[in-house]
This record gives sequence, structure tokens and C-alpha cells, in this order.
Amino acid sequence: MSNLPYSFLLEVLFRCVVIYIVLLSILKLSGRRGIKQLSIFELVIILTFGSAAGDPLFYEDVGLIPAICVFIIILGLYRATTYLVSKSKKAERWLEGKPIYLIKDGEFSIDEFSKESMALDEFFAELRLRNISHIGQVDLAILETTGEISIFYLPNDKVKYGLPTLPHLFYERQVKLYANKNYACRFCGKIEKPETETTKCICPRCGKQDWVVAINDKKIS
Ligand SMILES: [Zn+2]
Repeated sequence: MSNLPYSFLLEVLFRCVVIYIVLLSILKLSGRRGIKQLSIFELVIILTFGSAAGDPLFYEDVGLIPAICVFIIILGLYRATTYLVSKSKKAERWLEGKPIYLIKDGEFSIDEFSKESMALDEFFAELRLRNISHIGQVDLAILETTGEISIFYLPNDKVKYGLPTLPHLFYERQVKLYANKNYACRFCGKIEKPETETTKCICPRCGKQDWVVAINDKKIS
């Protein structure tokens, strides 16, 4: 460090300014207006830009020109891809994915849901942030391609018993199920109301044996 010439520090300053201006212009040219929702593809672009911009900032032997070439090539690829996506439905589905039903009619849509690697904790947190205390309040929950979740509520008079999203209820596993009480399957959200007391209730929908007490509170608006 000590034998680093001051002139190189000036050079670093100059490179920072150039990279900053080039990056800003390139991102502007890419046609995006914000960074709130990035697709996976766009994230790849930003990461590539970041690493191409990083090296020439402080490595003396890495010049500015290769980095700028990288920016221009990536921008070209990005424009080509967005063009392809706008022309082909197939390419769009492959790149952007398609919306996925997470909840249908107060229960998890397990055939679609299980394929998704989305963490249940994260999903429940999202539901709680919208004052949803159990999934019996939800008609439809859809994971959009942007990563956001759309929720359609059941009207209050149609709210049914559902799997609680509240941690103190969700983690309270029930081994013995009592007669005529509503229980929710922790895996798929199916509601069961055993006719007799039992310790061996198998979920008719998903085959698991993992129950919690279901609740049917109305949604607070
Ligand atoms: Zn189940």
C-alpha cells in the first residue's frame, strides 16, 4: 500500500467517474425505469455490470476499455432478449416464469405449491403483514412472476376454518384430535373435523399426519 503512487489514486478517481457515468447511461439505455422488481435475468445483468465495473476501478493493469466493451455487449444481449420475449410467448414463459397459485379456496394449492421453493415462513410473514390470521380468509393467493403475491379475500360471511398463519398457533402441533373440533393440516391446509376422538387422523388430501387447531376469525380490515 505504502508504495502506491499518488498518481494512481487520481487515476482511480478518474475511473470511478467514467464507470459511474457509463453505468448510468447504460442502465438508462436498457429502458428500465426502476429497480423495485427485477427478474432473474435482469439481476444477472446487474451482477455482470457490477463485476465488470469493479475491477477497472482499482486494478492498475485492468483498463477501462474492456469494461466498457462488456457493458455494451451485455446491453446488446439484454435488448435482444427483451425483443425475443416480446415476440415469443414461449421465451417469455421460460424467462419470466408464470404466475403460480399458492392458495385456492382457503387451502394450499399443493400440486403447484410444492414445486415452488418458496419458503413457507416467508409466505406466512407476507400473509400476516396483510392482517391474514389464517388461510380460510383467502380465496386466492397468486405468486406473480415479479415475486410479489396477489391476494383475493373471501368476503367476511364466507370465511371458513383455516390453517393459522400466527406462529404461536401454527407451531402448536396436535397429536390427539378431539371430536367435532376443526383441525387444519399443516402441510396442505385441509380442514378436518373428526367425529370421534383420534390420534391417527391421516389427511385425506395429502396423506400427512400433522395437525393444528384451525381458526375461523374474520379478517380485520
Ligand atoms: Zn394435508
